Amino acid sequence: MRIAIYPGTFDPVTYGHLDILQRATDVFDEVIIAVAADSNKSPLFSLGERMQLLTEATQGMPGVSVRVFEGLTVEFARRSMAKAIIRGLRVMSDFEYEFQLALMNKKLAPDIETVFLVAKSDYSFISSSAIKWAASLHGSVSDLVPPHVEKALIEKYATARID
Ligand code: ADP
Repeated sequence: MRIAIYPGTFDPVTYGHLDILQRATDVFDEVIIAVAADSNKSPLFSLGERMQLLTEATQGMPGVSVRVFEGLTVEFARRSMAKAIIRGLRVMSDFEYEFQLALMNKKLAPDIETVFLVAKSDYSFISSSAIKWAASLHGSVSDLVPPHVEKALIEKYATARID
């Protein structure tokens, strides 16, 4: 069994994430989406909400599961019997950060590989932050996220106080 984890904040999940995930399932038998419990990004969606949105988005995808993790990503990979960490690369500016992270993870866990998948050009401009910014100003994000995620964004920004 080739198992990989796909870690991230997923605040919220986008078509960019789902494209990487879909392609990862072509290479690995099992892909565990690992939702970071301790993100330093002050997420808009709670951990429970992010899990729920991901679970609905990945329903019916064979070999995919969604789990929460705390602490070191490589330790979660080891506990999950995963040999690889999947990361998506969009633009060159992703590269420097991702490269550093991959080297650090290699130092911490030489037995685990980071596998980079390059974003599809249609999705390379998509980020959760850009989507939140557009949705907060009532722009349509229907081409960028699944319908239930768009609905959740609309509800969030209808109730959230925007300063
Ligand atoms: P993190 O907070 O760990 O960066 P994200 O949820 O923002 O987590 O993203 C998780 C992973 O998915 C990262 O490797 C990121 O580069 C990748 N990713 C995000 N958006 C896209 C996209 N549009 N296309 C391809 N990969 C993406």
